[in-house]
Amino acid sequence: MKNGPNRNYESAGRLSAKVLLRVLRKREPGMTRLLGEFVRCESPSHNKAAVDRFGRIVAREWKRRGANVRVVRQAEYGNHLRAEIWFGERRPRKQILIVGHLDTVYPMGTHALTPFRVSDGRAWGPGTFDMKGGLVIALFAVDALRAAGVIPAKRLVFFWNSDEETGSKTSRRDIEREALRSETALVLEPAAGSEGRLKTARKGAGSAEIVVTGRSGHAGIAPHLPGAGINAVHELALQIVELMKMNDRRRGITVQATVAAGGTVSNVIPEHARAKIDIRHAHTADVPRINRALRALRPIVPGARIEVSGGVNRPPMERTPAVEKLFARAKAIMGEMGLPLDEAWVGGVSDGNFTAALGVPTLDGLGVVGDGAHSPREYLLLRSLPERAALLAGLLATL
Ligand SMILES: [Zn+2]
Repeated sequence: MKNGPNRNYESAGRLSAKVLLRVLRKREPGMTRLLGEFVRCESPSHNKAAVDRFGRIVAREWKRRGANVRVVRQAEYGNHLRAEIWFGERRPRKQILIVGHLDTVYPMGTHALTPFRVSDGRAWGPGTFDMKGGLVIALFAVDALRAAGVIPAKRLVFFWNSDEETGSKTSRRDIEREALRSETALVLEPAAGSEGRLKTARKGAGSAEIVVTGRSGHAGIAPHLPGAGINAVHELALQIVELMKMNDRRRGITVQATVAAGGTVSNVIPEHARAKIDIRHAHTADVPRINRALRALRPIVPGARIEVSGGVNRPPMERTPAVEKLFARAKAIMGEMGLPLDEAWVGGVSDGNFTAALGVPTLDGLGVVGDGAHSPREYLLLRSLPERAALLAGLLATL
């Protein structure tokens, strides 16, 4: 006899992931319908009323499934949602965390321009792929487990935040608190590439700002003469060149100036200049070195002053042996369904960076397959709705 969850899983059928997929394929029209309702209810990060309206629809779906739903109230951003569900008689002690977000990057009214529509095996519309499709598969994964009579050994906590697209400022603490109670974190952000790769590693990220103060003067005076002014734009340019030296391909560190401004008119030596710097890194161990290098910047143009703020704040999601094991499990589940599964290392960040940094094995990119996130060309592949829901259900059943 095998241990608990696997026994239940396998008793549901010979090749259980296949059973789950069969159940879910029949529900693809229902999944598509719910996706349509989700997408039509727009939820831009900066519109609390809209995000809350969408949150109420999502909460309704979880309540229908018998989940214990808690609304984590917010003053400025939309409310976060926490839905907890378990299947056996007693509430299991161990927890799996599933993370996703309610908000989208699109301003109100985008749906009128690019409405939800289904054609050629795809569903188009703002937020289909990133990541309302992910919210749909979570609900139907739970349905499929019920339908197949599979009992996960752990309680499932779904945490949907309202401000992921703006950096998770109000939800980071909540996500970290739930992560610390969990054995595993599964993130329903969109999959990578058209083959639907999972994200087993993400770079960490941060941003810094350099503010330069010089002294204005007439540009006609030779710049080497005393009292000619101190050129803040020249100073900024030299600082950017200095910063570029932090780039380290081998260690996966990238540093680039992404915004720069300075000066007033062409015949005045600029007094002010500033730049924003985007920083990405692959290893937590490099964080002190990066932040130290930022603090070590000193003025180069005589008389110029510089102020450097910010630094690296989002830790990388590293591919640990525990993550490798998780991925192998996911690959095996897809294999049972006769489907391939690969993994990717990506530069973008997600809430998975937070859970992984706490040492909680994290698997990301478990959401739907599609493309065009944050653009008018956003879509998901309809067949990925049942397939990814079956993968998630398989993971929940066997972890
Ligand atoms: Zn997202």
